[in-house]
Amino acid sequence: MPVTGNIFDLKKFAIHDGPGIRTTVFFKGCPLECWWCHNPEGMNAEAECADAEYRRKAYDLSLPLDTNVIGPNVAVDTLMAELRKDSVFYMESGGGVTMSGGEPLMQHDFLVQLLDRCVASGIDTAVDTSGYAPWEELEEIIPLVTLFLYDIKLIDDELHTQYTGVSNGLILENLHRLCGAGGEITIRVPLIPGITDTDSNLHDIVRFLEPFERIEHIGLLPYNRIGEDKFERLGITYKPGRRTTQDGNELERIAGLFEQHGYQVSIGG
Ligand code: SF4
Repeated sequence: MPVTGNIFDLKKFAIHDGPGIRTTVFFKGCPLECWWCHNPEGMNAEAECADAEYRRKAYDLSLPLDTNVIGPNVAVDTLMAELRKDSVFYMESGGGVTMSGGEPLMQHDFLVQLLDRCVASGIDTAVDTSGYAPWEELEEIIPLVTLFLYDIKLIDDELHTQYTGVSNGLILENLHRLCGAGGEITIRVPLIPGITDTDSNLHDIVRFLEPFERIEHIGLLPYNRIGEDKFERLGITYKPGRRTTQDGNELERIAGLFEQHGYQVSIGG
């Protein structure tokens, strides 16, 4: 039976969410509440009334969505028709479609149908996930996904709980299982100054990843304050406060920490 899902944004010609030119689909709803979230409008699972700023952006982007609400309900057919429009770019660049959010696995049935339809249409798929979902739901999508962009934020569980609202136990356990089950994985590390970019956390991540021989690629996501303004518009306190973005030297130093352990590192995706 066809299902519908709540999507709060579509990013066309994305070049940082997997290889080639891609369309990124932003699923509404996330079980985490990261202090630094870049897309706080995607955290709440329910559709919300759009403010003027969101409507203006949606208009500028010509989103094929109802721009009066954040996260309108969209049918798989409608979304597929939009995604297929750029098939030629995906094919020529080795790109495809990336499911992101929010947390795409929160809308599991919709995600499965959408991935299934992409695969049937010859469109390459990637899923950007926090890893915080029942293993059975993650396992079900493995045959439908070429690349997982898997976020690792903090290894210390107390800090993870403090800054994201949930324990990292399920996330780390799911990564173990995903590595054993196949599928290509890029680990993404958001670099939040003084929170996730500390030497102690980065060394913990390197140590944690050591047994996973199949993981070769790390994507470092430098801090930017894009979310700050959005939090303000949504009337939510931006808890990180004012923090300074890493400069080029610092990013190179952090990349070097991973490179010296044999990883290919990209900055920005
Ligand atoms: S996991 Fe991603 S989408 Fe969810 S709250 Fe954290 S940063 Fe935002």
